[in-house]
Amino acid sequence: MRHFAIVGSGPAGFYTAEALAKAYGGEARIDIIDRYPVPYGLIRFGVAPDHQSLKAVSKRYDQVAEGGTVQFLGNVAVGAHVSIDELRGLYDAVILAIGAPHDRKLGIPGEDLPGVVGSAEFVGWYNGHPDFADLDPPLGGSHAAVIGNGNVALDCARILAKNRHEFEGSDIVGHALDALDRSAIRTITILGRRGPHQISMTPKELGELGHLEAAAPLVEAGDFPPIEADEALEPGQRKSINILREFATHEPDDSKPKKIVFDFFARPVRIEGDGKAERLIVERTMLDAGGGAQGTGEMYEVAASLIVTSIGYQTPRIDGVPYDERGGKFANDAGKIADGLYAVGWARRGPTGTIGTNRPDGYEVAEQIAAAMPPGSDGAKAGSKVLNGLLEERGIKATSFTDWRTIEAAEVAAARPGSPREKMVRHDDWLKALGH
Ligand code: NAP
Repeated sequence: MRHFAIVGSGPAGFYTAEALAKAYGGEARIDIIDRYPVPYGLIRFGVAPDHQSLKAVSKRYDQVAEGGTVQFLGNVAVGAHVSIDELRGLYDAVILAIGAPHDRKLGIPGEDLPGVVGSAEFVGWYNGHPDFADLDPPLGGSHAAVIGNGNVALDCARILAKNRHEFEGSDIVGHALDALDRSAIRTITILGRRGPHQISMTPKELGELGHLEAAAPLVEAGDFPPIEADEALEPGQRKSINILREFATHEPDDSKPKKIVFDFFARPVRIEGDGKAERLIVERTMLDAGGGAQGTGEMYEVAASLIVTSIGYQTPRIDGVPYDERGGKFANDAGKIADGLYAVGWARRGPTGTIGTNRPDGYEVAEQIAAAMPPGSDGAKAGSKVLNGLLEERGIKATSFTDWRTIEAAEVAAARPGSPREKMVRHDDWLKALGH
């Protein structure tokens, strides 16, 4: 028998559990540990609430959790309630699947002014993340800016642009829906430090901006290189650029009260305001020979009382685990950190790729583990039997997958009309739903 602990119950954690369960059959016990009493990490707290089809992948994770080999241990914070060293003493392998939930910083003056929020915070706020339930982003001004040209920037801009009823069928939390409904924001500027060819936005997500009820995208035709240059792009990127080129042909649509302005070749250098964010000072850039952003010295202002920085994420450090400073992830070699210690998903690769990218990633690490300790071999580790005792001694009540089902049923029962659930956003509410 082998015992494995996976820390983090998002896509990377669940795909790794699935792979290990397949490799070891009944000869392994796999514990998925999460700091929150509810599973699914990025699926619950990160994927946009109006992208329910992406969230449906959690049904596959349900099957993993209910397959008999895997146990969910929620409400257990690794680092605070149990250390990595303790886990390594109890499990044949510990796999870190904690994602990259912290915002990277821009490193410019004014970044700490009220009104500047990271996309992890903003997304967490509308998605029911307990750490950001009280974020209260300022929505009273008419201008917002989103910094970054990736899919998360698109998510943030789209959420700011939608009408209340465009959220029907989504699981946006009630407090965010009400605040967005009262929002005065009419102009959302998306700033990219490079040009249209350098965006990291995928066609489906970009295309959605063309179908918003109350908002129209605005793109400057002059920002594009000659059309022949598109031929060198890979097909997905070419599709995205075609969509942007199409947006650039639109006449201003006065029937739509909101606009989403794409500001390319725009590098924020400073955020200014009287005790709160009021404007971004931006330097016009051009591409240098290597395709990087080079400042031109031309400065201008972009008005914004809400500024969402959406420039990528970092994995938090864990005591005793080597860290790759530049990559913002655990130092690892193809997923291996040390004997019996691995990383998967964004904690392994950094914050890139889709949910599906985590599947091969988890399977690859499971294969490495199976090569190091072949299925059928026995280990000397005690696993959750001893962990459960430790947690009990420390007064920690771990939640099970059955407990999650109870919380889920309560959320579904409390759903607003048109919403699949009313997410509980406080730790205490989750525990209350369990009668703890
Ligand atoms: P991303 O795709 O890496 O985009 C980050 C953006 O931030 C880039 O445009 C980058 O520009 C810019 N940036 C970085 N540092 C900057 C700085 N100092 N100043 C100005 N701009 C800066 O990251 P993401 O949007 O956070 O997305 C993370 C991953 O999740 C991606 O793989 C994404 O596709 C995925 N995702 C997918 C979906 C979906 O499929 N629906 C939704 C959300 C996220 P440069 O290129 O110039 O560095």
